Amino acid sequence: MSFNIYLASPRWYCAWVDRAIQILDGALKKYGSPIYVNHEIIHNKYIVNFFEKRGAIFEENLDNIPKGSIIIFSAHGVWPDFRAEVKERWLKYIDATCPLVTKVHTEAKHFVKDGYEIIYIGKKNHQEAIWVKNENPNKTYVVYNKDDVDNLSWLEWKKLALLTQTTLSVDDTTALIEYIKELYPDIDLPRAKDICYATTNRQAAVKEMTQYIDTLLIVGSESSSNSNKLRDIGEKKWINSYLIDTFEDIDESIFDNLENIWVSSWASGPEKLVQEVLEYLKSKGWIMKDELKTIEENMVFAYNLELK
Ligand code: SF4
Repeated sequence: MSFNIYLASPRWYCAWVDRAIQILDGALKKYGSPIYVNHEIIHNKYIVNFFEKRGAIFEENLDNIPKGSIIIFSAHGVWPDFRAEVKERWLKYIDATCPLVTKVHTEAKHFVKDGYEIIYIGKKNHQEAIWVKNENPNKTYVVYNKDDVDNLSWLEWKKLALLTQTTLSVDDTTALIEYIKELYPDIDLPRAKDICYATTNRQAAVKEMTQYIDTLLIVGSESSSNSNKLRDIGEKKWINSYLIDTFEDIDESIFDNLENIWVSSWASGPEKLVQEVLEYLKSKGWIMKDELKTIEENMVFAYNLELK
């Protein structure tokens, strides 16, 4: 009996997460500590700890940031009042927001300017959803499932538009969008799909492999809803699926009666941690069998460290 490891590709940082990390790294080197960030730079415990040790301070409350400090806007974006307050407080900033998140903010702004109200599919406690709602709090309704949509039936819409969080489950969102379209056939949709390429590609890679494997190991963080989503994809196919921060979280009892393990990570999962998991599995007699690429991702985005 052989014990095989298969590796998903793509799995690592998306180009925008990579850019946000490089901006924080570059700012610490260029300007020294402390550098403030308005939220975890990405949802990954290891990366947050790593930067905290180097002098980054992840602080959501602007009251706690001294005047004149440097702040980086995390990949999850900010909203207009926040930007205005940053200026009022004489903070200097670098914007590391993912432009795919900015696109949804811009769409929200334009829709409301044109007299629309917005149904936004997203996780109510996720920063991206909270901050898009902050664009127009009285005209944006965040929904995550059919019950949430049903709870809006008392509203009398005049013009209605639909937006989604960039990092949701493609399958779940498609079903919910269809449900909303049935209820509100005239609803306006964004010109381009809101769910980002990185989410789509990583979920597709895991889904593709669920037909061949016994067990799925996702290297990610509980705080990342998308790491959880990758695990959910496995669970929906009745595959044993585990979310681990590092190789130290692997419970060896999961190896009983196993032949194939599939390893992947989310777009905010450092490749170093994935490689450590592989080394650990190899030390236990597992053999690296194959890396299966479902799509090529080779984007790189420029940045500059100029303060605004
Ligand atoms: S996961 Fe998607 S939305 Fe998030 S930073 Fe990457 S490309 Fe942007």
